[in-house]
Amino acid sequence: MIGIFGGTFDPVHYGHIKPVLDVKQSLGLEELRFIPCSVPAHRAAPVATVAQRLAMLHAAIDEYENCIIDERELNRQGVSYMVDTLQSLQYDLSGKVFCLIIGMDAFFGLNQWYQWQRIFSLANCVVTYRPGFELNLAQLPADLCSEVKQRQIDSIKAFAGQQQGAIFFMPVTQIDISATDIRQRIKNKQSIEEFVPPAVNNVIQQQKIYAG
Ligand code: ATP
Repeated sequence: MIGIFGGTFDPVHYGHIKPVLDVKQSLGLEELRFIPCSVPAHRAAPVATVAQRLAMLHAAIDEYENCIIDERELNRQGVSYMVDTLQSLQYDLSGKVFCLIIGMDAFFGLNQWYQWQRIFSLANCVVTYRPGFELNLAQLPADLCSEVKQRQIDSIKAFAGQQQGAIFFMPVTQIDISATDIRQRIKNKQSIEEFVPPAVNNVIQQQKIYAG
């Protein structure tokens, strides 16, 4: 199974890296693809340039085995829709099984994503717990709740054997930080050492990203 982890990564931080490495290990993923988005559908454009976001991502993950950066969304025109990304991965890596890794906060808005129900025909879905976001099925929108009820699998072993369409909620290392907090800390001249790998901090310092 190949793990797919999309985000703006503006900047990438331990709240991204540690949970997905947990997923990689727990599921024995053969590969983990970090997919930086170009034009996000539901939020403001990233602050750092594409080259800066890529430099920070490389600094963060190049040391890890079987972790790669996939630039397909950056190379595509228009809004970065995950369903298009999964479709093109299916085409390029035909026969592989995909697992979309998504934080709990993002999962709560999944039913706002373009053609979101098609995602379940293209990939499995691991939802990782994030500090401040508890899973409460009663609070999910009705359409998303109904998909969870049909698709949720409680056993990781059973989940690992699925081809597509299964949902697994996974407890992971909890890191209470967001990229927004990090950008704010840099503006306030506060340390971010605790929240990003040293190599990412170096890129941010050297290129004076977010300092303005
Ligand atoms: P921003 O603060 O700019 O919105 P972010 O830190 O939430 O950014 P994104 O790049 O938007 O990061 O998120 C990509 C993915 O990483 C999403 O699925 C999100 O849920 C997950 N994620 C981000 N931060 C954490 C965290 N601290 N713990 C667990 N998951 C996280």
